[in-house]
Amino acid sequence: MSEQFDVVVVGGGNAGFSAAHSAVEQGATVLLLEKASADAAGGNSFYTAGAFRFAFDSIDDIADLLEPDERHANSVVPAYPRRAFADDMRRVTDGRCDPMLTEVLVSRSTDTVRWLAGKGIRWRLLYERQAYLSGGEWVFSGGLFVGTVDGGKGLIARHTEAALREGVEIRYGAEVTALHLADAAERGVSYRDAAGAEHRIRAGAVVLSAGGFEADPKRRAKHLGEGWDRALVRGTPTNTGEVLDLALAAGAAAHGDWGSCHSVAWDADASPTGGDRELTNQLTRQSYPIGIVVNADGARFVDEGADFRNYTYAKYGRDILHQPRGRAFQLFDAKTRPLLRKEEYDSWPIAGARADSLSELAERLGIDADGLRRTVSEFNESIVDNPFDPAVKDGRAARVSPPKSNWAQALDTAPYYGYAVGCGITFTFGGVRVDESAQVLGTDGKPIDGLYAAGEMVGGLFAGNYPGGSGLTSGAVFGRLAGASAGRARS
Ligand SMILES: Cc1cc2nc3c(=O)[nH]c(=O)nc-3n(C[C@H](O)[C@H](O)[C@H](O)COP(=O)(O)OP(=O)(O)OC[C@H]3O[C@@H](n4cnc5c(N)ncnc54)[C@H](O)[C@@H]3O)c2cc1C
Repeated sequence: MSEQFDVVVVGGGNAGFSAAHSAVEQGATVLLLEKASADAAGGNSFYTAGAFRFAFDSIDDIADLLEPDERHANSVVPAYPRRAFADDMRRVTDGRCDPMLTEVLVSRSTDTVRWLAGKGIRWRLLYERQAYLSGGEWVFSGGLFVGTVDGGKGLIARHTEAALREGVEIRYGAEVTALHLADAAERGVSYRDAAGAEHRIRAGAVVLSAGGFEADPKRRAKHLGEGWDRALVRGTPTNTGEVLDLALAAGAAAHGDWGSCHSVAWDADASPTGGDRELTNQLTRQSYPIGIVVNADGARFVDEGADFRNYTYAKYGRDILHQPRGRAFQLFDAKTRPLLRKEEYDSWPIAGARADSLSELAERLGIDADGLRRTVSEFNESIVDNPFDPAVKDGRAARVSPPKSNWAQALDTAPYYGYAVGCGITFTFGGVRVDESAQVLGTDGKPIDGLYAAGEMVGGLFAGNYPGGSGLTSGAVFGRLAGASAGRARS
């Protein structure tokens, strides 16, 4: 016997919950199937900092969404118009973002954040991640200013409460193993429960929101290339790509850049197989723009100050992966250490060391001491005489190779601090092709009846790099569209 729902949603992260809320708004009965158990649920979305990138012409336009904070009166939050968001997408992807999908993402971003607020998601300015105190004011930069209260944990908790309130049925430990799309009367999915029993669900429409293939070493090596099987998985271990494969086998067109992904500097001692549900995003190490990054030979290999962190962090994981031993070391001194993000660099355990000299630091971290000495002296001597200001692109460059374009500070004041990082993979960029209503398109370019996709499963938005905070916005925007379309299409 199979059960019948109007809409079945596959995967319970931010995209899946957004789709579920939206389908309910259309009057649909909704079943959400989540592969992980209840205590491991929420997908990658659970592990996030909850940062959402969205467009607005003035902070006053969204001030009503924000939780009160005594720092508000003393904060400078620049406008982030749609055009700036679209330009950022094009710039960081080298023009490879799909124009139609980008337009949908950008134009629906603000309204969707407001819609989520209506579902109970709470918002705040991200002082500790996106602002520096400059001239007595909190100055925000990098186009990403707002996030959810309690980060990803808060986001998933509020999503889950809202879904249950709306009457969405959630089944955990339910791994979707087949899609049935050929016959409208039989449309639906099969899933295996935690005890291994198989179930068949009939549904008017199916929304796929089961993430990418970032947690599967074999699929990573196949699509991303040599070495990626050794990356450290930052988030959920359950995004292993089988639902992407099911969609492709059902005739969905692949879209976007299957050969690249979002990957970052991540604590070198972190588990390779999945994130830590307590520490979540705290294992990331994102204050590198104010220090230097070297490999085990003591050599620098990226421009740490090329741009605001939000525009470089998601591609530098790849550079770390390709260094000797797949490791790198972020170095700071007594001057810069107080500027590091507390939640990341003051958390415990941490793969780091403190020393009174650079040679001692090198020895503790396993860096070639002579190489490091040469790198640091060349770096220190090449810094231009501009004032240091982490809140703006200060042009305080180090004219070495590779250059450091902003925020160069001589590494010369003991004690010295070093943090060992590996490549933490966040999510993959390749996915299926959808239209502007989030309906999946087939290899023949035609919509596949009753099939929708959202979140990481949507290919074409990101390639090679990514503007920070766009993943959650994409999941919410396309999840909302997918749910609405699926809810309307159910009969
Ligand atoms: C540590 C970390 C920090 C991040 N910080 C941010 C941030 O601050 N801002 C931002 O925008 N992005 C951030 N991201 C990226 C962000 O997590 C993703 O872009 C977004 O959460 C993807 O949402 P999703 O719903 O598509 O996928 P997910 O949230 O991963 O949900 C997919 C769900 O599908 C389930 N699933 C998989 N296979 C099956 C199956 N066969 N059957 C049933 N269910 C299945 C999974 O178990 C999972 O729960 C971060 C990611 C990580 C890992």
